Amino acid sequence: MRVLVVEDEKRLAAGLRTGLEAEGFAVDVALDGTDGLWMAREHSYDAIVLDIMLPGVNGYRVCSTLRDEGIWTPILMLTAKDGEWDEVEALDTGADDYLTKPFSYAILVARLRALMRRGAAERPAVLEAGDLRLDPAAKRAWRGDTELDLTARELALAEFLLRRKGDIVSKRDILDHVWDYDFEGDPNIVEVYIRHLRNKLDRPFGRASIVTMRGAGYRLAADGG
Ligand code: CA
Repeated sequence: MRVLVVEDEKRLAAGLRTGLEAEGFAVDVALDGTDGLWMAREHSYDAIVLDIMLPGVNGYRVCSTLRDEGIWTPILMLTAKDGEWDEVEALDTGADDYLTKPFSYAILVARLRALMRRGAAERPAVLEAGDLRLDPAAKRAWRGDTELDLTARELALAEFLLRRKGDIVSKRDILDHVWDYDFEGDPNIVEVYIRHLRNKLDRPFGRASIVTMRGAGYRLAADGG
């Protein structure tokens, strides 16, 4: 799941990146409202963490502009405790939720996951394809009754495929959502991780749920079979 953080306080932005990446999110950071707006338009994010007091365009403007343009990415606004800005106003501009600084990462992550579930597309708490199940919050996955031993990256890849089950996803889509969009390593890393996943959630169970679509990418068979 890919998150955009728009925050001008560099230390907080760096901390958010580290904290959210540790939770398995792919994270992009914008340090002002103008960049944030541009990135939110140019890339598809699963959620946006948006500070209100920003140089350039402030958070309210970023939020209301995106909504005016029909971009409904779930937005969690960060508000300062000094009360200069009204939190209710954050919701009025089209934010989905707000969090007052300082906040704990645990709460931020829980709120983000809740927003992703509530967002425009159907986002159930536990993702399923046939007898393959994955609980993103608990970071656990099962094939039937057997719990799968997946690394954080394998889990993130499985989560992405499950959220797009039935759809063809390109390697680029996968890199963008499971790695960062500015990932500049070898894109064949995707093939390596697809192989790992197949060896864990398909082969031992005699399944072939991750289908290679030649020249296009991959598709998780919706029936899991
Ligand atoms: Ca700020």
